[in-house]
Amino acid sequence: MKKYLRIILEVLLGLLFVAASVLAYVNWSGKRHAIVEVGSVSQEMEELDKDLKDAEEEVKQLKGELEGLQPRVFQLDAVKAALSGGQVLQDMEALYKGGKIEMTAERQAGIGALRMLAIGAEDPNTVAAFTKALEMAQWKNRLDTVCAAQNALAAAGQKVEVLSECRNISTAKPKEAPKHDFHWGYEGKEGPEHWGEHFPVCGNGKKQSPLNIVAPFEKSKAKLAVNYKMGPLKMLNNGHTIQVNIPPGSTMSVNGMTYDLLQFHFHRPSEEQINGDYSAMVAHFVHKSKEGQLAVIGVLLQYGKENPAIKTLWANLPPKENEEYAPDKIAFDPSTLLPKELGFYHYEGSLTTPPCTEGVDFYILKTPSQVSKEQVGQFPYKMNARPVQQLNGRKISEG
Ligand SMILES: [Zn+2]
Repeated sequence: MKKYLRIILEVLLGLLFVAASVLAYVNWSGKRHAIVEVGSVSQEMEELDKDLKDAEEEVKQLKGELEGLQPRVFQLDAVKAALSGGQVLQDMEALYKGGKIEMTAERQAGIGALRMLAIGAEDPNTVAAFTKALEMAQWKNRLDTVCAAQNALAAAGQKVEVLSECRNISTAKPKEAPKHDFHWGYEGKEGPEHWGEHFPVCGNGKKQSPLNIVAPFEKSKAKLAVNYKMGPLKMLNNGHTIQVNIPPGSTMSVNGMTYDLLQFHFHRPSEEQINGDYSAMVAHFVHKSKEGQLAVIGVLLQYGKENPAIKTLWANLPPKENEEYAPDKIAFDPSTLLPKELGFYHYEGSLTTPPCTEGVDFYILKTPSQVSKEQVGQFPYKMNARPVQQLNGRKISEG
């Protein structure tokens, strides 16, 4: 009995020792935890202190920048004061309305700027002037002017979608690296599948061009009529296509509306498909109504005989990119590129190049014109056609 008692006591003592050890450990580790916590708190304090110093530094820098801006604010006030009364604005508007000087997107934006300075951003005509400039610039693919007009409209408190490449122009911080310009094209990283990253409508628009033209068609009662005039030849290689700029006077009419022919240009192969088939090329005749409605007549060019109108154009290709070229004493009649029959497929689409603006009526002529293989080979762009886009429930009509 005594022997058992001793074993029990030893076990009890052993258990007590283990319990004491566990208690001691728990106590010690708790303290250690507390020490670590104190350490991390003081580290946080140090970080906060550093943040505070950084913030102070930034405030100092901003103060400096603000002081640098002061002279510019004075200059702006001085310009505003000099233009107040609107006399210069009136003169400029009268000058452009006279029609002796062609109204361009840049001049239209200039009128908006004068109005903003002389009368104010809140004047509805200021907004209207910049809206008009924006439309004109989009139509002519003038990114600088698109940006100027969008930023001006945003500054005037208008809800306007500012292109990402325009955002840095007015709000650029000196510290930021200049944003890389996106040069759109037809291949690789510049290609159509990347346009939407820089020009949102190209990616998420629901009425985009070009289309594959396939039945069923609705019947259109509209009659298309053109009245193109002979005029001095003015050509432009804009880095994406060869474009012929048209002097005022050539018009097109459909549905009781008259449109001015602004320019025509080429794509190789044709952007539009008919029943899934491309043509060798297409000529797009770009028109605009007085109300700003845009309409394009597409003339498909199929392999065949040499085209005399294209012969004249290719013989006068501009020697330099992005510079309008007016060869001496060459007259050109745009109607020489059209077929006799003006039957068409009509649909509502968009510009086929960035920024892919929608609200453009397309009339693709059913009768193609001809172009020789050699002439297609002489066109300086091997591939400048956007792929066909989703129909998204649109109706194609036939007239
Ligand atoms: Zn085109």
